[in-house]
Amino acid sequence: MSEPSRSGLQERLNKAPELVVFEKVSEEGKCSECGAELVRGDYLSMEKGQPLCLVCADLDHLVFLPAGDMALSRRARKRSLLSAVVVRFSRTRKRYERQGLLVAAEALDQAEDECAADAPERAAARARAAIQRVDEDREFVVAMMKEILGQYPACPAAEAGRIAAHTARRGSGRVGHSAAGRELDPRAIKLAVVAHIRHQHTNYDRLLMQGASRLDARILVREKIDQVLVKWRGADGVDS
Ligand SMILES: [Zn+2]
Repeated sequence: MSEPSRSGLQERLNKAPELVVFEKVSEEGKCSECGAELVRGDYLSMEKGQPLCLVCADLDHLVFLPAGDMALSRRARKRSLLSAVVVRFSRTRKRYERQGLLVAAEALDQAEDECAADAPERAAARARAAIQRVDEDREFVVAMMKEILGQYPACPAAEAGRIAAHTARRGSGRVGHSAAGRELDPRAIKLAVVAHIRHQHTNYDRLLMQGASRLDARILVREKIDQVLVKWRGADGVDS
C-alpha cells in the first residue's frame, strides 16, 4: 500500500507557488508597511496587491544572483532553503522577464564552490573579488559584532559575526557611511538579530516556501524568537 496522506502532502508542497520579487520600473512608490521609499531598480514583494520592501517581506537577507549562469543558478536555488525569482516588467515586450534569483548568501557560496571545479579560472576571479569585498567590509563587521555582543552578551560570537557579515554583504556597493552608521543603532541591531534568529533558528523560511503567508509564519515563530532573544540577552539582561 502506498501512503496517500504523505504523497498528498508532497503534491501540495510541490505545488507551493515560487516566491516572486519585482524589480521596480516606475519612478516612485512606498512600502505599504514601513513607508520606505521605493525607487526604480529597488526590489519589492507584492502582498495582497500592496508593495512591500524586502526588509518588511523578510527577504532582505538574500543576495541577488543575476540570470545567465544556468548551472550556478540551479545549484544555488537547490542549496537555498528560501529563494525568490526576480522579474522585471518589460514595457516594450509587455511581459514580465526573469532577471535572476534571490538566494541565501551561504547557498550562493556553496554553489560557487561546486561550480568552481567546472571553471577554475572564473573561480579564481570570483575569489579575488570576494577578498576585496571582505577587506572593505571588515571594519564594519567588527564594529557591528561589538554592538551585537554588547546588547546580547550570550549570543555566540560566531553567530554575531554571521549577522554582521550578512548586514555588510547586503549593503555591499550600495550603502555609504551614513547608512552603515544607521545599521549600528540599537534598534537596527535588534532587527538584524531578530531576522537572523527567524531565518536560522526557526522553520520560518520553510513555512514561506510552503506557501504560508508572511503574517501567519511570523505568528508561528514568534515564541521561538523570543526564547532565543531572552537566552542571548543573558541571565540579568533587560529588554531594550
Ligand atoms: Zn517596508
